[in-house]
Amino acid sequence: MTSVPELLVLTRIQGGWDLFQTSYVEAARTLRRNPGRLADLWAERRRAVALHPLSDDLRELYGAQIDRSRAAMARLAPPLLQRYADQAVPLIEHSWLRSIPLRSSAVEAARVVLKELSLPDGEALATVSSPPGGGPAGRTAKTATGFRILATDDGTTSSLAVLLHELGHFLYEADPGPGPTEGIVHYVESEAAALALGRVGFDRYLAALPDAGERRRLWASYCRTEAWLNHFYFLTEAAELGLCEPPPGRLDMLYLRDTYSSTVGYQFVYAAASSLMADRPEQLVTRLAPAGGPGRARGHFAPPWHPEPAWHTAATTAAGEEMTSRW
Ligand SMILES: [Zn+2]
Repeated sequence: MTSVPELLVLTRIQGGWDLFQTSYVEAARTLRRNPGRLADLWAERRRAVALHPLSDDLRELYGAQIDRSRAAMARLAPPLLQRYADQAVPLIEHSWLRSIPLRSSAVEAARVVLKELSLPDGEALATVSSPPGGGPAGRTAKTATGFRILATDDGTTSSLAVLLHELGHFLYEADPGPGPTEGIVHYVESEAAALALGRVGFDRYLAALPDAGERRRLWASYCRTEAWLNHFYFLTEAAELGLCEPPPGRLDMLYLRDTYSSTVGYQFVYAAASSLMADRPEQLVTRLAPAGGPGRARGHFAPPWHPEPAWHTAATTAAGEEMTSRW
């Protein structure tokens, strides 16, 4: 790597976002019933891709991630995707997940998990409220005084899984260390924190249930599928940008990822974050604890463009290791 670009440019796609304010299923239905709408969205995406700027540094960064994502996809297959009309769509099969009732709310279940992991729970959980307009997609929003979590708590285990992901964002964003908060390192580390706490925290929740074995196995499959999708979407976007061949296989309804329908450029973040946390989610979660532990600093999770190539070793991990204990 010659030098590290600080900024990741995101090219906005107009017109796709409103579809995902309700639910993914509703969005899928709308697109099925309106082929013209789908054609318009693709045309808009092609326009945005054509305008998207890529510096030489970014091309280099993408190139390294393309290699990692191809290797990860080969390890992670086969995915646990839902199917519609005999085609795989990018929605992860989670009917088993919905069948587990929470004793109280997602917020209270998350509080127990955070305590077990020795992470602070009070401030983050006090900020949780429903996203304006509803919808299943959670997010962590910056406010004038800090951050707040917008996530639906409907008392289901699905909402717990979403909430734990957002708590990972919150704990990272609340104390990210020095440096710009809009750069590549920040984006990737925040997403890696969210993926790691989602992975480890929900596994911790399941482990406390009776007969946890089968559910934990399904959860591991779920997480592998999520990682597989992150790499698939990144390679798809990189191919659109002329940087590589498209990934093998095909998914119907690519538009069901909200960031893919609203921006060009962000799929790199998910893929790089998946690679960053794949072999050590517990380690990343430990580093979300307040200072007093190893301390927090920019590049703390050691993404590949920082010294100490801990992450490079993750990319060359023997096949199967990630399957057994990680996503
Ligand atoms: Zn996230």
